[in-house]
Amino acid sequence: MSQTLELDSPLEGTLYIVATPIGNLKDITRRAVETFESVDWIAAEDTRHTRPLLQALGINKPLISLHEHNEAYRSTQLLEKLKAGENGALVSDAGTPLINDPGYYLVKLLREESVEVVPIPGPSAVITALCAAGLPTDRFSYEGFLPAKSGKRKLVLASLVSDVRTLVFYESPHRILATLTDLESVMGSERQIVIARELTKKFEQFVSGTVAEVLAYFTENSGKVRGEFVLMVTGDVEKPAVELSEWDGLIEVLLKQGLPVKQISEIVAEYAGVKKKPVYQRVLELKD
Ligand code: SAM
Repeated sequence: MSQTLELDSPLEGTLYIVATPIGNLKDITRRAVETFESVDWIAAEDTRHTRPLLQALGINKPLISLHEHNEAYRSTQLLEKLKAGENGALVSDAGTPLINDPGYYLVKLLREESVEVVPIPGPSAVITALCAAGLPTDRFSYEGFLPAKSGKRKLVLASLVSDVRTLVFYESPHRILATLTDLESVMGSERQIVIARELTKKFEQFVSGTVAEVLAYFTENSGKVRGEFVLMVTGDVEKPAVELSEWDGLIEVLLKQGLPVKQISEIVAEYAGVKKKPVYQRVLELKD
């Protein structure tokens, strides 16, 4: 009896999503280089930007542009190439593709078409900034760029004012002062923030303090208002104890389940993003 071996689309190629340095060329990974060497083509946000990187690595591969204005049309073409068995890589100008960079449309299409997509991880400004900022990293919300106009920007900031997670924004040097001014007016001058500037580059800098202090620093040091910025804002961790009553319902449900006071305090504190001690007190009050 003969048996046919069924392979899952044996001829289809793979798209590799390759992170590239955000400033320091030495941050290219070995896997990134090996991937560039192995693929048939590289789709790049801006081919003029990627060519020097490949030249520095001694790699010569066909480059195909894929940017926000041609992504839909180009993705269909790349899908055909991959279906025909070619392998490709996707890169953006810097950092990880799709993180405020093109590629979402393409990856979504490939997933829908069951074409293999493989990440080749590496630098991204959001993680690079967070890991050295000294702000809580157990929970954070990456918010990309804030709107360019002050009115909309304030609306977005207002929607985040009681978020307990660390907030991370990308910002340009042209808007950083205006953004800090809006941040102060919406979240107050005392919120702790960190600005990471020119990460992995010669003039890398972390500036931390209250919103008012950091705004004053950049206002007085206009020479530092240049380069690339990541703005990190501490979440609304200083919630007044009185707000704990909002969690009475949950606490009562957990008490009815017979969970120990300590465990309930841990669950509710984690969920509400507040310290365990006041929650513990509240659980005891409700238990009696
Ligand atoms: N895909 C990139 C990533 O993974 O981080 C982000 C691309 S986004 C178009 C560019 C923004 O990322 C910059 O305006 C800046 O806010 C941030 N950024 C990129 N490189 C940076 C660096 N070296 N230092 C600080 N911020 C950086």
